Amino acid sequence: MDTPYAITINGKRVPTSTTRAAINPATEKAICLFPLATREHLDQAVVAAQESFSIWRDRPLEERQALVAKLGDLISENRESFIRLLITEQGKGRAGAEWEIGGSIHWLHEIAKQSLPSEVIVDKGEEQIVTRYTPIGVIGGITPWNFPLLLAVWKIAPALVAGNTMVLKPSPYTPLCTLWFGELAQTVLPPGVLNVISGGDELGQWMTEHPGIGKISFTGSTVTGRKVMSSASVNLKRLTLELGGNDPAIVLPDVDPKKIAKDLFWASFANSSQFCVACKRLYIHEDVYDAVAHELVEYAKTVTVGDGLTDGVELGPIQNRMQYDKVLNLLQDCRDRGQRFLIGGEASASPGYFIPVSLVDNPPEDSRVVVEEAFGPVLPLLKYRDIDDVIRRANNSPYGLAASVWGKDVRSAEAIASRLEAGTVWINQIHTFSPDIAFGGHKQSGIGIENSLHGLAEYCNTQTLMRKPLAV
Ligand code: NAD
Repeated sequence: MDTPYAITINGKRVPTSTTRAAINPATEKAICLFPLATREHLDQAVVAAQESFSIWRDRPLEERQALVAKLGDLISENRESFIRLLITEQGKGRAGAEWEIGGSIHWLHEIAKQSLPSEVIVDKGEEQIVTRYTPIGVIGGITPWNFPLLLAVWKIAPALVAGNTMVLKPSPYTPLCTLWFGELAQTVLPPGVLNVISGGDELGQWMTEHPGIGKISFTGSTVTGRKVMSSASVNLKRLTLELGGNDPAIVLPDVDPKKIAKDLFWASFANSSQFCVACKRLYIHEDVYDAVAHELVEYAKTVTVGDGLTDGVELGPIQNRMQYDKVLNLLQDCRDRGQRFLIGGEASASPGYFIPVSLVDNPPEDSRVVVEEAFGPVLPLLKYRDIDDVIRRANNSPYGLAASVWGKDVRSAEAIASRLEAGTVWINQIHTFSPDIAFGGHKQSGIGIENSLHGLAEYCNTQTLMRKPLAV
């Protein structure tokens, strides 16, 4: 089998002696082999990033910005091929892949316009005090498998604009788009500025321990995030951790169930619920519970699940066997506890890691399907009567990534939203992201921010520069 994609170190394709198969989750068949980098490859990549750092840092900001924008052009020129490769390796439907590839282009173009001007604190002629933002050095980027290219771009664009260089590791489940992008990027960037190496989980751990890396920007599960934080302590690495969530949505009694069902459905099931900010607990007021549940079931029946390369498919499979087995196990737990499915609940025996949209009817608040991050298309519908009670239940989680509130009375919805413990709270909308909007988790959903100037600042050290004339 071919190994068409290579790791990129110091501007060059580098062969590896070991490889692994990338699997198409819709067919369970191998797509191709991809390279497994060793510790020596990591060392080479870090040295290349270190050696290119001072040259890249000293290039005028406008030149760095222009080159980052050109990275967006590279994806744009290969848009259709990226979309098809993303569908094949990740499993998502066509619309989802268009959203991710379009988003990757947009983020590179827009983050390329950002900068952090110095803040002048004192300005008295020769005497001046300035707070400025300087790059950190080599950034280690580690990404998950649900939005492989977009989440890599969320790291690459600000890291490079700020003047850092990078070693990036995609998930072993979805390495292909990122490896290809890494190769294409060499036609634009100086060698060593962006090095992309693929490998197993151990490669991620070696990165977090590597003394030559100054910061880890990690997106993945909370369990792994804790390990990253622990091993990053060796050289006090700076950290951005974007981790898991168990996002609540609160539906108020004044909604029109028919009108709201579509939005609530996609709030939960977009990307087959393999979305850190998917609604994972849907709290519905008892006055409208039955009607909303009914409309959700009716809408779910209209959604086509299948291979994303097939026209009309809206939802694909679970991305990998490990996650598929976890979701199956959760479904089994629901059945073992006698919980009722309003739709779904059983995986089909056909090939591919397919799990049907599954709605669980008002399971107990302490059941696994409510407490755990399913990261698959299984949604508990939960009944509530009292606003204080639902806010308490919504906040009763170690996670605090995002939340949403849905109701006609926007002021009441906002009053509830402001009491929710989450990094982003949407009212009558969900999954609104922008390069200019800060995104990050509270509690065990993360540390730090991505996007916006807050996100850019995370790729910088803060330096205070004080100037004074010599006393004569
Ligand atoms: P994961 O934590 O298993 O893996 C993420 C990355 O970490 C992969 O590249 C993996 O190879 C690497 N890794 C594994 N062990 C490591 C270690 N010990 N040290 C360093 N790196 C290591 O997560 P996943 O299953 O790929 O992704 C799903 C999770 O990501 C979900 O919990 C989801 O909520 C979360 N996520 C969060 C966000 C966010 O922005 N908050 C976005 C997307 C996904």
